[in-house]
Amino acid sequence: MEHETARQDGKATVVVGAGVCGLCAAHLLAESGRKVVLLEKLDRVGGLARSFTYGDYTFDIGPHRFHTENKEVEAYIRRILGDEAITFPRASSVHFQGRYYPWPVRPASLVQFPRVLAAKIGFDLVANAFRKYGQDTFEEYVLNQYGPTLYRHFFLDYTAKFLKIHPRETHADWAKAGINRAIIDDRMQMRNLLELVQSIVLNAGKEDLHFLYPRHGMQVYCDRSADAIVAAGGEVHTGVHRIRLSHDGTHVSEVAAKGRRWPVDSVIWTGSLHTICELLEVPRPALEYLAMVVFNVEVKATIGQKFQWCYFGDKDIIFNRVSNNVNFSEDLAPWGCSGLEVEVTCLEGDDVWQHPERYVERVIEDLRKVDLVLRREEIRDIHIERIPACYPIYVTDYRARLRQAIRPLKAWRNLVLAGRTAEFWYNNMDHSIGRAMAVARRLEGKGRRPSGTTFGREEEAI
Ligand SMILES: Cc1cc2nc3c(=O)[nH]c(=O)nc-3n(C[C@H](O)[C@H](O)[C@H](O)COP(=O)(O)OP(=O)(O)OC[C@H]3O[C@@H](n4cnc5c(N)ncnc54)[C@H](O)[C@@H]3O)c2cc1C
Repeated sequence: MEHETARQDGKATVVVGAGVCGLCAAHLLAESGRKVVLLEKLDRVGGLARSFTYGDYTFDIGPHRFHTENKEVEAYIRRILGDEAITFPRASSVHFQGRYYPWPVRPASLVQFPRVLAAKIGFDLVANAFRKYGQDTFEEYVLNQYGPTLYRHFFLDYTAKFLKIHPRETHADWAKAGINRAIIDDRMQMRNLLELVQSIVLNAGKEDLHFLYPRHGMQVYCDRSADAIVAAGGEVHTGVHRIRLSHDGTHVSEVAAKGRRWPVDSVIWTGSLHTICELLEVPRPALEYLAMVVFNVEVKATIGQKFQWCYFGDKDIIFNRVSNNVNFSEDLAPWGCSGLEVEVTCLEGDDVWQHPERYVERVIEDLRKVDLVLRREEIRDIHIERIPACYPIYVTDYRARLRQAIRPLKAWRNLVLAGRTAEFWYNNMDHSIGRAMAVARRLEGKGRRPSGTTFGREEEAI
């Protein structure tokens, strides 16, 4: 990756994709004096962190809240949020065999577990010391860390339902990243049953972690980032349906979109890996993203369960997770009402993706089954949104496939892949923002080369 500091020759740094990664990179580079152009294919900025507003109700895509241990990233997020920043303690749940439990598990919830199940989990705690499993697949990782009872009763069904492949065909990185995302708090480690018990005992009575959030929904963070880019002299273009790259096989020299052409010094690509491969005519990656249909349900009542979000593992429930927007901020729905974000993962082109309206009744039925909606008349409206490329699917040999996909792209010396979608990286917003900072630093001539991609752990790169 070649880099040049603030340009005098009219060349631009073009950032493709206005998710939190592209927004942050474009902002920092514009502030440093570079000519920056940000191109986004959707009609608004935000990517996976965008929100949908219908009248008085605002919905993010599933639960979106900031949490980071990285002080620089947190300071940046707070700078963008300004007076919109609010914080609240985590309240997440899991619905399991017909009951709600706090998540991560608390001492009280162990007592609430069915007695036979609790006994089996206890037995696993002892027996796991003598059992040997591999470490390569999701199944092996979870068996090692949690034992066969929790694997069979929760992780197996939840993961198969969520990811559409069997945990045996899923790489262990999915378990590492996914379970860490779900637990979040380092004080609540559950890497094995012994740790679980230790963390429960040691953390009993301690204050739970807090999240940072924009009072009026995640879109505010994204819109304020875009405003900051423009204020720093950059350009933001949305609704960019087609991009063309001119290049000589080692450098991208020009980007064309919307009837405009920009000579470029560097291109930061944050869109899908498949599209950049197609544009540069290199082989299509043998990797797939998981898509999602969200059913945004306007409810004319408060919800008895007080979670911000809840996981649903049971096979007979159509959704994977439900979030309640008013438990993020009461400004996201009218007083006394709630907005339920109901997530159903799918593959682009399958029946859920093509005909989500066929699943509305099932969603309502299951919301009633789990006591989130008591009467049908409580539902004011339901909005369906299709979200492509939500999650990278980590099949067992995804690392090799990813290396193979990225290898030919390394020929372009002024192209950087950054962020969740471009790096096929199961990450969070703070990781994408951190990566954007590293890329911006490098282009300014500071810091290490920002190429490469991560495997499960944020600091690991190929
Ligand atoms: C359901 C769900 C819940 C989540 N919850 C949380 C959470 O609570 N906390 C958290 O920190 N993170 C959460 N995340 C993760 C978070 O959304 C991502 O880490 C982050 O938004 C990724 O940002 P990004 O900019 O790297 O990628 P993206 O958001 O994917 O941005 C890529 C952008 O590129 C655009 N694009 C693609 N192709 C093109 C093209 N050809 N031309 C122009 N533009 C293009 C896309 O439209 C998109 O705007 C969640 C994710 C999901 C799916």
